[in-house]
Order: sequence, then C-alpha cells, then structure tokens
Amino acid sequence: MSDVDLKGLIRTVPDHPRPGIQFRDVTTLLQDAEGLRAAVEGLSVPYLDAGVRHVAAIEARGFILGGAIATRVGAGFVPVRKRGKLPYATVGLDYELEYGVDRVEMHQDSVTRGDRVLLVDDLIATGGTALAALGLIEALGGHVVGVAAIIDLPDLGGSARIRDRGYDVHTLCSFEGD
Ligand code: AMP
Repeated sequence: MSDVDLKGLIRTVPDHPRPGIQFRDVTTLLQDAEGLRAAVEGLSVPYLDAGVRHVAAIEARGFILGGAIATRVGAGFVPVRKRGKLPYATVGLDYELEYGVDRVEMHQDSVTRGDRVLLVDDLIATGGTALAALGLIEALGGHVVGVAAIIDLPDLGGSARIRDRGYDVHTLCSFEGD
C-alpha cells in the first residue's frame, strides 16, 4: 500500500461547474510526481496478472491515467470519446445525464472479440458514463476485466450500480456526502 495521501492531493472546487457540485479536481494530484506515480501504481497493481490486452479510458482525465496504466499492465490503450471526436468509423451509445443525454463512442476496430479490457476514468459518480463505456466494450466483443478510477463518490451510487452488474470496481479513495 502506498503511503502517499492521494485524497489530500485532490483539490475540491465548490460550485463547479454548477452551484451545489463539489468538483473533485485531480490536476493537483497529477502535477505531483509522487501522487501521479502512486495513482498509476495503485490502479495497475490489481490487474498486473489479469491478461489485460487493452486499457480503455474515458476522455479527458481518464486518458492521462489510461496510457500510463496500459504500459504498466502490458496493454495497449484505446480511447472512449464524446460524440464526434474520433476520426474513423465508430460505435456509440447514448446515456442519460441529470439534464439531457450524452454519448460515448469508440473506434469499431479498437477492441476485438475476446479482448480482455480494463476501463479507466478519474472518478465514478452516478456510474452512467462508465456503464455506457462498458456497454460499448461488450458490444465490440470485449471481456471487461474491471473498472478502475482514482475517486469514488459512493453516495451517488455509481460504483454499487457497476458492481451490481457483475463488474469488479477498484478505486483508491472516496468522498462521502457528495
Ligand atoms: P458519472 O457518469 O455520473 O459517473 O460521472 C463520471 C464522469 O463525470 C467522470 O468522467 C468524471 O470526470 C466526471 N465527474 C462527475 N462528477 C464529478 C465531480 N464531482 N468532480 C469531478 N468530476 C466529476
């Protein structure tokens, strides 16, 4: 176990991007050499021997972690992006936000049938984004090894929802009461 205080390196920005939201800003952790190393290591270690072929990560903060974790677990990296950003043929899935609908997309040839895939993001709130990404990975025939994120917001129920669907969820710290 790392002795780096990851939670203490995360900055909380009140009322961003809307009143009432406590934004958990990981840029302060990422800019700290020990913090970045400890986060990448902590998210990688459970999956070192899991035969991960691809780390799929959600833009934008997930990308920073995803590339580093991929090299650590011996996998390639594939991006999960918001609508219209990927240049080649995509598969996509719409998902509900508190207000409105969003969409995640992956390149249709990024994961192939039977690939073992680890999904990475910085934070799990309601779990909607991760569940949409998991749906895409499985639509492409991938086998999900787990979902790894630095932060869990347990009161929003996302990590529980994802576990209820049978996935392994691994997070490094949590903020209660959000
Ligand atoms: P959700 O789909 O509700 O689990 O939201 C997760 C996504 O939204 C992640 O990509 C996070 O980066 C972002 N997010 C949601 N809530 C917060 C928050 N309070 N602070 C920072 N990022 C958040």
